[in-house]
Amino acid sequence: MPSKMPALATLFAQADGAIDPQTGGVVPAIQTATTYVRGRDNQPVSPTHIYSRDDSDLSRLAEAILAKAENAEAGLLFPSGMAAAAAVLRSVPAGGRIIMQTGIYWGVTKWTRDFCARRQIDLVEVDCADLNALRAAGHPADILWIETPSNPYLKSADIAGCAEIARACGARLVVDSTAATPVLTRPLEHGADIVMHSATKAINGHSDMLAGFLGCADSASDLWQSIATDRHDAGAVIGAFEAWLLIRGMRTLPLRVERMCANAQAVAEFLAKHPRVDQVLYPGLSSDPGHGVAARQMSGGFGSLLSVRITGGGDAALAVIGKLNLFKRATSLGGVESLAEHRHTIEASVPADLVRLSVGIEAADDLIADLDNALS
Ligand code: PLP
Repeated sequence: MPSKMPALATLFAQADGAIDPQTGGVVPAIQTATTYVRGRDNQPVSPTHIYSRDDSDLSRLAEAILAKAENAEAGLLFPSGMAAAAAVLRSVPAGGRIIMQTGIYWGVTKWTRDFCARRQIDLVEVDCADLNALRAAGHPADILWIETPSNPYLKSADIAGCAEIARACGARLVVDSTAATPVLTRPLEHGADIVMHSATKAINGHSDMLAGFLGCADSASDLWQSIATDRHDAGAVIGAFEAWLLIRGMRTLPLRVERMCANAQAVAEFLAKHPRVDQVLYPGLSSDPGHGVAARQMSGGFGSLLSVRITGGGDAALAVIGKLNLFKRATSLGGVESLAEHRHTIEASVPADLVRLSVGIEAADDLIADLDNALS
């Protein structure tokens, strides 16, 4: 673990001090070469540059920044959040067991169900926001997978409590911390073994590239070594342009997260009082069942994602999002622009009255006026 971390705002704003070594440019250059020459003695001109699948300076830089931000011993980037999730879950051998939180990002649940069926892996799905339910599920297991706050139900799972249960089950705890970002929560500091992100979301923050990230507490562990070897050998890497965009986006991550959290809190408080809203799911509300857990393990805010149950059911929810002007009707989350999504349209198990909001960095008053108009 790094002994002396710069504040996250400094780490991200300065891209960990990256300066282009050729020119002194304060922005690292995009190296597009896939291959690097050797000299007449057949030695590489640069020993750390042979082939770009292994040797991308920009990927290394982005991995180092994110690993520092998560207080991780090592970090690895993947071409998407799903690729990062699959890289961890694929480490479970045939006949093994995965314990997975219910009501998390649907793509992870679906991939894991299919994978476990193919490999004869026992999949135990349980509400990990309820530690008693998790304890009761208490099997020996290989991986305990949680997501907090969860998408789209915004449940808060107690990372330290889950870590204790994971140890008792002989499992490694993996936390999908996409909705929290390293600015708000650093799961490894609460006992997780691996933290996972869809860097497509707030970490990049501009809705213009896909990436996933894994950071680990113990880089010498068999689990991390097998993930790193498979990432290397199977070639699940990101391109130079994507790594550059990610580094550029991350420079403002703490600033964006601060604003998005403040906006989301204001939006949640407005909606919680609105007569056409049955329920607001957001850990920042003191009435939220996960507020206490979230307050313990999140600092600086409660994230930019919230869900709203609209009075009147599915048709009413669709009518509301149809009247939005500023919030764009689109999937995804964590970008600077606010988005609204009727999850039921693409995920049948989500209640039809639920609208998921990803709150961006616009003026809070404008966002609230847009919602007020749509609800009227
Ligand atoms: N985890 C969470 C919480 C997500 O919301 C998503 C995507 O929406 C993913 C993982 C998958 O990430 P990606 O779309 O980058 O593959």
